[in-house]
Amino acid sequence: VSASSHSRCIKPSLLVSRLYQPSHLRDVGQDSRLAGEMTCKSQMLMQQAGLIHPSNPGCYYYLPAMVRSMEKLVRVIDQEMHEIGGQKLDMPSLCSADLWKTSERWDLMGKELFRLKDRHGADYCLGPTHEEAVTTLVAHQANLSYKQLPLLLYQITRKFRDEPKPKFGLLRGREFYMKDMYSFDVSEEAAHHTYRSVCQAYMRLFARLGLRCVQVNADTGNIGGTLSHEFQLPADIGEDRLLVCGDCSFSANVETLSLDRTDCPQCKNGKLIESKGIEVGHTFYLGKKYSHIFKASFSNQENKPTVAEMGCYGLGVTRILAAAIEVMSTEEGICWPGLIAPYQVCVLPPKKGSKVDNAVVLAEELVHTVGEAIPHLRNEVVLDDRTQMTIGKRLKDASRLGYPYVVVVGQAALEETPKFEVICQKTGETTFLSKEAVLDLL
Ligand code: ATP
Ligand code: MG
Ligand code: MG
Ligand code: MG
Repeated sequence: VSASSHSRCIKPSLLVSRLYQPSHLRDVGQDSRLAGEMTCKSQMLMQQAGLIHPSNPGCYYYLPAMVRSMEKLVRVIDQEMHEIGGQKLDMPSLCSADLWKTSERWDLMGKELFRLKDRHGADYCLGPTHEEAVTTLVAHQANLSYKQLPLLLYQITRKFRDEPKPKFGLLRGREFYMKDMYSFDVSEEAAHHTYRSVCQAYMRLFARLGLRCVQVNADTGNIGGTLSHEFQLPADIGEDRLLVCGDCSFSANVETLSLDRTDCPQCKNGKLIESKGIEVGHTFYLGKKYSHIFKASFSNQENKPTVAEMGCYGLGVTRILAAAIEVMSTEEGICWPGLIAPYQVCVLPPKKGSKVDNAVVLAEELVHTVGEAIPHLRNEVVLDDRTQMTIGKRLKDASRLGYPYVVVVGQAALEETPKFEVICQKTGETTFLSKEAVLDLL
């Protein structure tokens, strides 16, 4: 079988030459609309690797490799929300002003709210968060029983906020993806229990992604409520200042302390250590704030209508992707949390016309074999078939996009006991492995 007929058998979606991942980096300096927008490592890397392309301030095209990553992240989030009883729904982004006027946030939100009118002159906004919408929904259910609580509803949708300074790429957009969950409980005690289980799910999520996350006491802002935590990834580029006690479990966003202090308010002995963080999640215990206004109630054990206790819990989906890149990568290339890398493996056949270019068949075979032997990797192994380019150039591209594993098929693959050169991104190690050992490793 000739090399070309083999690569014709590999789906175009797994051939690097066919993937739509244009690099638009040169546009950044030239595009005047974007001139005011500050860049950072993750934004540079994501544009360079063809993951995102800027559209207008705070808005981006999410290109195919980016969408793959995001879908993977969404799957992991879904698993964790499912574990704690979350049920996924999808609410309109076009929100009637009436609800926002009822909660008084129509005025409170100020310029951050994207407002528009329909053809009849009625006011709307593009949803920046959905407390009003979800509480109204639950309030519509006439026969909600205590037996159906806790009720945890969540969605993963685009949110719109007219940020005064959209910057740092996906870290602060004006249109971005958020996972927002809302809980309804029978009592304050039950609501606190739900609140803790969501916080634990968030910590599990970040642990699975291999991201160090700090849970800190936080301000409740304009969402309201009395108990709140932020989930922060320590990073110099972060816009939040965190204070963590060296001796006890105390940690807080500086916003929550009135004075800048260095002694711990909890244990009194410890010194507070300051660092910067990127806020990737935020949880709020809301009490009856919204359920009271919108009359979201259930019938209790005595069959009496009772106002539900609520909580709300946000995760910045697109911000997590950028923040992960920010904290894990070098300037040279992206290092992904393995679970959400766009592809798991890139196979590099030799350059056309080189002494060993007949090894190209072995590279194609490897792609097939991995797909057949390991079903969950079937659409995860790409072949960099741009064989007019040197291995070195293609290796550089591979490290820019970031694959957990890169397999170079060259001289060693043609020897009597064929070996493949496997580069593991996480450890930086290169090993020469037989085909069987490659399959074991993956
Ligand atoms: P920030 O303090 O960064 O403005 P926030 O406190 O206004 O964020 P929340 O209302 O708590 O944000 O929203 C929940 C989560 O949504 C945040 O923890 C963050 O991860 C994400 N998020 C908020 N604003 C943005 C944005 N402009 N771009 C991307 N993600 C965002
Ligand atoms: Mg904000
Ligand atoms: Mg904040
Ligand atoms: Mg917040």
